[in-house]
Amino acid sequence: MSILYKRVALIGLGLIAGSMAHAMRRGGLAGEIIGTARSAETRRIAAEIGLCDQIAETAAEAVKGADLVVLCVPVGVMAAAAEEIGPHLTPGATITDVGSVKRDVIAQVEPHLPEDVHFVPGHPLAGTEHSGPNSGFAELFDNRYTLLTPLEGADPQAVAKLRALWEGCGANVEEMDADRHDLVLAVTSHTPHLIAYTMVGVADDLRRVTDSEVIKYSAAGFRDFTRIAASDPTMWRDVFLSNKDATLEILGRFTEELFALQRAIRTGDGDHLHDYFTRTRAIRRGIIEAGQDTDAPNFGRASPRKEDAAE
Ligand code: NAP
Repeated sequence: MSILYKRVALIGLGLIAGSMAHAMRRGGLAGEIIGTARSAETRRIAAEIGLCDQIAETAAEAVKGADLVVLCVPVGVMAAAAEEIGPHLTPGATITDVGSVKRDVIAQVEPHLPEDVHFVPGHPLAGTEHSGPNSGFAELFDNRYTLLTPLEGADPQAVAKLRALWEGCGANVEEMDADRHDLVLAVTSHTPHLIAYTMVGVADDLRRVTDSEVIKYSAAGFRDFTRIAASDPTMWRDVFLSNKDATLEILGRFTEELFALQRAIRTGDGDHLHDYFTRTRAIRRGIIEAGQDTDAPNFGRASPRKEDAAE
């Protein structure tokens, strides 16, 4: 791959920015990478591990001369980040973000950007429950989707170049309208996270009754909820507050389905349960066929029995 951007500025140095830095280096996509983060501690760690070529003290300083700026901060602080960098951007630069919600981020960022830059919002559909400057790795985006949600009248060249960057980072790239993105993500990511948080919360409430049994027997299914429910609290608070309408819409549907299943259990309607679970099993097969997960037993965990015993 050849260099696509001469100077890339990463604003925020957590899981996503760190993974982008590693992936851009792997692909030789950036001339130099400048990073900055809010806290001196994160900047210190990033410098220590050589995450970027340079670490800047402030976002305003980081974006100077950059032809690509990537906002990698929680969704709730995108406006503040855009406000800080706005006056320091280079004409012709592309500004993008990696926020998990798109309509709200566009509303936050756009008013602070000068006319002579290209704003192309984006969202890599890849992550882990870890955060911070040490958590990134080059393979995070491999064979995962990154969705770009260009605004009306976006410069096709700026969009194409950003697409090439994400492809160079290993991602499959698609374009989508921001509202559609927010609804799709409410189904595939946001509501499932809320359900996982709830299930783990319920188990925590029961802990006193069950002593340590919830932890000991967690491999029965609960464990997979706990991985999701260990995700960063700040990030997820912001996701729900900024994707409010779509999340509430999907939660409403979820509640209806849950009541229907509850009723089937109460009335002993085994056919309803069996049909429902048959349909959902097919969805899992579809995900595997699309190459978006492994079909190895127990999500490919190396040695399920040994691992279970250790927990
Ligand atoms: P992360 O590992 O927690 O890193 C967040 C970064 O933002 C840190 O450098 C942090 O600085 C900075 N930050 C936090 N609060 C800030 C504030 N109030 N003002 C300025 N900077 C602040 O987060 P991440 O997982 O990389 O997520 C970053 C973005 O990617 C979010 O918008 C998220 O929605 C999106 N995203 C996340 C995932 C995922 O699974 N994690 C997947 C796709 C997209 P300090 O370290 O100095 O506190």
